Order: sequence, then structure tokens, then C-alpha cells
Amino acid sequence: MQLIDGKKISGDIKSEIAQEVKEMVAAGKTAPHLAAILVGHDGGSETYVAHKIKSCEEVGFKSTLIRFEDNISEQELLNAVEKLNNDTTVDGFIVQLPLPKHIDEQKIIEAVAPQKDVDGFHPINLGKLVAGLDTFVSATPSGIVDLLKRYNIPTVGKHCVIIGRSNIVGRPLSILMSQKRIDATVTVCHSRTENLKEIAQTADILVAAIGKPGFVTADMVKPGVTVIDVGTTRVKSDKTKSGFKLKGDVDFENVAEKTSFITPVPGGVGPMTICSLLKNTLKAAKNRK
Ligand code: NAP
Repeated sequence: MQLIDGKKISGDIKSEIAQEVKEMVAAGKTAPHLAAILVGHDGGSETYVAHKIKSCEEVGFKSTLIRFEDNISEQELLNAVEKLNNDTTVDGFIVQLPLPKHIDEQKIIEAVAPQKDVDGFHPINLGKLVAGLDTFVSATPSGIVDLLKRYNIPTVGKHCVIIGRSNIVGRPLSILMSQKRIDATVTVCHSRTENLKEIAQTADILVAAIGKPGFVTADMVKPGVTVIDVGTTRVKSDKTKSGFKLKGDVDFENVAEKTSFITPVPGGVGPMTICSLLKNTLKAAKNRK
């Protein structure tokens, strides 16, 4: 079993991005600028956004954090999105999800200008991905593909089983994995899938993106499989300063020994997601008119 070290790979990619930023700035251009909107004080969201801002600093991007209390109205948030759409100094921005219940997330996603949608959540960007066109690929799927590539994990003709069909992870990943040059044969499973265990057992690459800690157990995987654990559920812990720790969707202790490669949680997919966001922001900056 080999551990897939997302932290290390993301560090390598960040160094590559930092080098490109240096060259951009040396050529007289302004550094890429990422803005993030954070609504409310959800612990998980606070942590994710703080990591994103810190990563911007590491690679030499400018970053701006815009905070709102969770009683912000949908219209006020739409206005803030529109302001960023029109701000020529901002190359790309994200609205950290989840949003409070009274705000329609899809409406907000669709309000973001596709050319600044560095999360790749806008239907236009999702549609371009489906059509195989150049686009902002959503960050987590793109990070997973980078991990597979950098560890030289074979994908051509392999069976990739993805558990989860959300628009931000499972669905776009299924499109990416079936594209030419990756060439996997893909099965997408969800909460209505019958015989999920038997399907999972046929996977050469098994991706768990469900949000249910320990869902994938040792009897669900075949020996030699590559397991990518996307799940990050915050569970209470008396062993950490914050009182929480992140748990993946895979029963790591028992599954790991059967695998060829496996991602840990934390330190696997998570750091790669941020990297992909940085890559998309760099791309947006290069697309400046
Ligand atoms: P989501 O929108 O809640 O989707 C979960 C998916 O899992 C759905 O498609 C659902 O099926 C499926 N599912 C739920 N219970 C199931 C079951 N018993 N059997 C089979 N499928 C089941 O979640 P998401 O946004 O994709 O996120 C999934 C996990 O990844 C979460 O833990 C999230 O925190 C984590 N995540 C991590 C990163 C990272 O950077 N590491 C990024 C994004 C998300 P239905 O469609 O049928 O409901």
C-alpha cells in the first residue's frame, strides 16, 4: 500500500504556480487576484476559506475576503456577486458553500460570471466540461485527476467507480475520468444504487464522495484497488485543539492494507482542491483582456 500524499503534491504544484506568478509580475502584469465571499461563521467554512487565503499568499496571489453575517438577504448577496463580476481588479472569486437555508445556492452559483467562476460550479462551465471544451474544471475533481497523474496510476481502460453524484464532485469527476486521454470506464453510484457493494468490488479506482464517515469498508474493495477518499465530515474529538477532526468516507484502518494506493483524510484530496482553485485563478488571470 502506498499513501497518496496530497500535501506534498499540492506543495509541488504551488511552487510551480508561484514560479509562473513571478514571471507574470516580472513581465509587468499584476498578480492574479482571488476574492472569496464567506457568509456566517460555520467552523468548516471558516477553516476552508482561511486555507484558501493563506494559499494565495504562498503563491504570490492577491486575495480579498468579503464577509457577511448569516442574516444577509439573497438580494444583498446577489448584489455582492454582481459587484465582483464587474470589478476588473478581481480575476476570479468563490462563494463559500454551504449558504444559509434562506438563500438559494443555485441562484448564487448562476449569478457568478462564468469567466470568473474559478470553482467551476456554473452550468456553463459544467456544460463545457461535458462537451470536452476548455473551461474551469471544478476544483475537487481536477485535484483528484492531478493526484492520479502524478502517482502514475493507470486509468486507461480501468474501471472507476464513483460513489456520489453531486455537481461539485461525483458528476464532474465522472465526466473527467471518461474523457479521452484518461479513458477510464466509469460507473456512478448514489443513494438509490442497488448492489453497491458488488459494484464497488469491481473497481480498479474507487472514489468515495458521500459525506458518511467510514462508509467504504474492507469487504467492498478488491485487492490492489486505488482508493480516493473525498469525504470530509467534521466529527467531535477530544484530541484536537479545535474539538473537531475530519473523517473520510473510507474505513481507512481496515481498507488501506488491501489497496495499492489510498488517500488519507486529512492530507489527501483536500489540499489538492485548493491547488486546483489556484490553478483556475491563474488561468483566469491569463485570460485577462
Ligand atoms: P453531497 O452533495 O451531499 O452528495 C453526496 C452524494 O452521496 C449524493 O450523490 C448521494 O446520493 C450520495 N450518497 C449519500 N448516501 C449514500 C449512500 N448510503 N449510498 C450511496 N450514495 C450515497 O456531497 P458532496 O458535496 O459531493 O460532498 C461529499 C463529501 O465530500 C462530503 O463529505 C464533503 O464534505 C466532501 N468534500 C470534500 C472536498 C475536499 O476538498 N476534500 C470537496 C468537496 C466535498 P443521492 O444523489 O442519491 O442523494
